[in-house]
Amino acid sequence: MVSSSPNDTTNRKFRRQRTRLVDTLRDRGIQDERVLEAIGAVPRHEFVDPALRDRAYADEALPIGRNQTISQPFTVAYQTALLDVRPNDRVLEVGTGSGYQAAVLCELGARVFSVERHEALLQRSRQLLDRLGYSVRTQHGDGSKGWRAFAPYDGIVVTAAAPDLPEALLRQLRDPDGHPGGRLVLPVGGPDGQTMTRITRTGPGPHDYEREEFHTFRFVPLVSDEAADEG
Ligand code: SAH
Repeated sequence: MVSSSPNDTTNRKFRRQRTRLVDTLRDRGIQDERVLEAIGAVPRHEFVDPALRDRAYADEALPIGRNQTISQPFTVAYQTALLDVRPNDRVLEVGTGSGYQAAVLCELGARVFSVERHEALLQRSRQLLDRLGYSVRTQHGDGSKGWRAFAPYDGIVVTAAAPDLPEALLRQLRDPDGHPGGRLVLPVGGPDGQTMTRITRTGPGPHDYEREEFHTFRFVPLVSDEAADEG
């Protein structure tokens, strides 16, 4: 006879909660079924502090230390849907944080690159992503400069509030030469709220970009090296 271990029971509980979270996101307007499936596959409880596991599948942001947060699932789903990720796309994430968004991108079949400026956060998420079998290349540093070595990207997602458009990121978007042009999805604005913005590269020239604006969100700030140096 097969009896279930406490671990199985816990995993079943989390799976049920995850299914409910996906239903909630659908009710809140997320329509991209591939994104919903990815959210339904990533064990978010692994990415939050053990003391907060019971809240891992509520649709809310949670603290991950160093004054940072794991984004709200709705926000992750919203940004991921705007990125329009196809399998094998090269996607750069700015702000690894807990590693959760990176894992969602892996579930969509993307080749994922992620930059984080807090070394301690990066070490933790690195270990976790490895343990869960998510293959993500990471780098410690200022992601507002992008990651030139692996450019161009089909998608770049910034998971912190950018005061304006980081030029370096625009330049690292793939130009639409036989492929769809690269998409940059980022919240633009000050501390009181940011407009979710999508920039799509439409050609090789310096002005070949299209800009679309969506809902308002509130993110932790993107801290560039220059800003950090000033204080
Ligand atoms: N994507 C994360 C959300 C993390 S919150 C997740 O799924 O959990 C935003 C993260 O961006 C924080 O970890 C913060 O340290 C980081 N960050 C802020 N400015 C940055 C910069 N210039 N370069 C890289 N990371 C940055």
